[in-house]
Amino acid sequence: MKHTYDYKSCKLYGREAFLGGNTIRLCCNGHLAKEPEFFKFYFNDLGNGINEFKERTNKLFKMHSKNLPGPCEGCPFLIDQIGQTDFLEEKLLKHISFTIGFNGDVCNIACIYCKNQHKKYTKSTNPSLLNLVKQVVESYGDTALPNLRFASGEFFFRKDAEEILEYLLPKKCKMSVVTNATIYSENFMEMIKTYRVHFINTSLDCGTKETHIKVKKRNLFDTVIKNLITYSNAGLEIRLKYIFLPGINDNEDDLINFLIFAKSISAKIEISTDIQNRKNNLPSHTMDAIFWLYQKSQENNLSVQFRQEGFSEYDRSKIKNMNMLIAQI
Ligand code: SF4
Ligand code: SF4
Repeated sequence: MKHTYDYKSCKLYGREAFLGGNTIRLCCNGHLAKEPEFFKFYFNDLGNGINEFKERTNKLFKMHSKNLPGPCEGCPFLIDQIGQTDFLEEKLLKHISFTIGFNGDVCNIACIYCKNQHKKYTKSTNPSLLNLVKQVVESYGDTALPNLRFASGEFFFRKDAEEILEYLLPKKCKMSVVTNATIYSENFMEMIKTYRVHFINTSLDCGTKETHIKVKKRNLFDTVIKNLITYSNAGLEIRLKYIFLPGINDNEDDLINFLIFAKSISAKIEISTDIQNRKNNLPSHTMDAIFWLYQKSQENNLSVQFRQEGFSEYDRSKIKNMNMLIAQI
């Protein structure tokens, strides 16, 4: 039977602006599209940058509503839809993410799948994160402020982290942080107590100390577990990522211990794999381990989702064929 597709749709743009130094990205997957430059552009002034972000979002939305792929052509996240189109309101900017590109971006560990690893990422000539955070807060005011998301290197290892938290503590904004959970912050704990921290994302990737050392190249597993328990006990939602690495963390010991720990802190689980390897299909025993973790998480009433972007097209189709929920955060 011939289908007629009325419009195209992608849930992954519009709601979050990704700021990295003096650039803004519309979505995380623009590099997969026909015109990657449409998704990343330079800005000098935050107000103009946000306006351009909104203009590009609206332009994309209009093209997709007319069933045209526009610059998204070729991106696997663009989906053909039938019937009533999406709503523009769903594209309203809700989150501002600070990603790599600021003066002092740094990390204290060296995950084997991270292309930046523990070195200092950026030069002192790059924009200051603290200044940009202040610009965002001051330009929006307390009432209309989008949620702030910190995702550049290890936030708590940067020199200005405590200054940023002290600045944000008396404000009304909400925030979330991507962290490796190796560093405990008292100011962050104070922020958690204000109920303005939505969640933290931590890539744990294992359930044993031995594998943690292999993946992170540091002996910090016990510290990570202790910090996650402390934050969880304070009421914080913890999102634990498991980045599957064939032959390293797809074994029974790691999976079982990870599951037990995730359950003990009621974590939300994200299953992923090394994005730098996304052109290669995963070995069948790794796919089996992935399905095992997905199914056991569900059986234990834990929220579990896949992050699609790391998987090859073939592996994505295997996941879809198993009727599993493929979702983005
Ligand atoms: S279809 Fe792809 S490139 Fe276009 S907005 Fe969505 S994720 Fe980004
Ligand atoms: S914690 Fe994040 S930034 Fe640091 S090495 Fe690992 S992946 Fe890279």
